[in-house]
Amino acid sequence: MNFDALFQTQIDALKEEGNYRYFAELERKCGKFPKAANHVDGEKRDVTVWCSNDYLGMGQNPLTIAAMCEAVQRTGTGAGGTRNISGTNHDHLLLEAELADLHGKEAALLFTSGYVSNWAALSCLGSRLENCVILSDAGNHASMIEGIRHSKAKKVIWKHNDVADLEAKLQALPANVPKIVAFESVYSMDGDICPMREIVEVAEKYGAMTYLDEVHAVGLYGPRGGGVSEREGLADRITLIEGTLGKAYGVVGGYITGSAALCDFIRSFASGFIFTTALPPAVAAAARASIMHLKTSRDERIRQRAQVKKLRDGLDRAGIPHMMNESHIVPVMIKDPVKTRMLADYLMDEWGIYVQPINYPTVPKGTERLRFTPSPLHSDEDIAHLLNALTHLWKQCAVSHAVA
Ligand code: PMP
Repeated sequence: MNFDALFQTQIDALKEEGNYRYFAELERKCGKFPKAANHVDGEKRDVTVWCSNDYLGMGQNPLTIAAMCEAVQRTGTGAGGTRNISGTNHDHLLLEAELADLHGKEAALLFTSGYVSNWAALSCLGSRLENCVILSDAGNHASMIEGIRHSKAKKVIWKHNDVADLEAKLQALPANVPKIVAFESVYSMDGDICPMREIVEVAEKYGAMTYLDEVHAVGLYGPRGGGVSEREGLADRITLIEGTLGKAYGVVGGYITGSAALCDFIRSFASGFIFTTALPPAVAAAARASIMHLKTSRDERIRQRAQVKKLRDGLDRAGIPHMMNESHIVPVMIKDPVKTRMLADYLMDEWGIYVQPINYPTVPKGTERLRFTPSPLHSDEDIAHLLNALTHLWKQCAVSHAVA
C-alpha cells in the first residue's frame, strides 16, 4: 500500500481549502522581543511578532533567563527520569509550592505542557470516578476535549458561556452521579471571558466539581497574576485550576492545583503524569522566578493593557472591525481562509509584521481571523506601524466587504 499517497491526498485537500499550516521560521533574539528574525529561502529578515503567547515577554526577561542559567549550571539539562523514578528535583517541588500558593490551594502538580495537564487530569478523573458525567463548554480547548474523550466518561456539551443551558443540563442528570463542569476563563481565539461567578454558583447548586482552564489568564489577571479566578475572588470555590507556564510566564510546562487529595489522586493514577520524563529542573526554576516576579510586579500587566487599548482605539479610528472582548486578545475577523492567509503573507512580506493566520480547525470555518496579542514590549511605534499597514491593506485589498 502506498501510504505516502494516502497522506498526500489529505494534505492536498487541506491546501485546496486554504487550511494548510505553513510555519514561519523565526529566530527569537534574546532581549529583543517582540522583534525576531524570519528565515526565508536562506535569507534572514527582521520582523515584529504580533501573535506570540509570550504575552508579557517574560521568556526574554533577564530574571527568567538568569534563573534558568543558574539552574542549568547547578542541575544540568534534563530531569533524568519520570517524576516517580529519579526525576523529582527540589526545583519541581519549589515550583509546585509556588503554584499552590498562587491559586490559594493545598497542592499543585506539574506536567510537561498545559495540553498534557488537561488531557491527563480529565482522562484520569473521567475514567476513575464511577458514572462520572463531564459537562464541557462548547468552546473548550482541544486538550480538554481529547482528555474527556479518552476518559470514555459521558460527555454533555453546554452552549458556550451559557449558564442557563448549563443549569438545564445539570438539572437533567441524576442527583447521585459525580459531575464535573469543565470550562475556561479567557477563551484563546475570541478572547471572551466566562461568567465565572454564575458558573460556580450553578455548579455548587448541583454538587458538581468545577474544572477551570486559566491558561490564557495566569500571570495576566488578578492582583498576583492568579488569573480571573483570583480577580473575581472565586479561586477557593473552584475545585481544580489548570494553567500553563508557557504563555504569560514565558517558559514551558503545565499544571493543576487543588486539594491535596485531588492532586495526590491525579499523581497516583494519571498516565500522562506517571509515564513521561519530568520537566528539566532548570525550566522549573525559570518558571518559578517568572511567577514570583509577576506576583509582585504589576508593571507588565499595566503596560500590556495600555498597549492593547492603543491598538483597539487605532483599529476603531481606522474603521477596521475587531471582536470586542474584555481581554488582551484582539481578533480581527476576515472570515475566509484564503484571504486570511493572503493578508498575513502581505503583512509579513511588505511590512515586516508577523501574524499567523488562524484557520480551521483552530476556529470554526467561516470565522478565520488575524489574532493580535499586544505585549508590554510592543512600542508605540510598533503599534503605529501595524495600524498603518492594516489601514493600507483594508483600502488596497477591499477586504471590508468580507467582514461583517
Ligand atoms: N488550554 C488552552 C485553552 C490553550 O489555548 C492551550 C494552548 N494554546 C492549552 C490549554 C495548552 O497549553 P500548552 O501550550 O502549555 O500546552
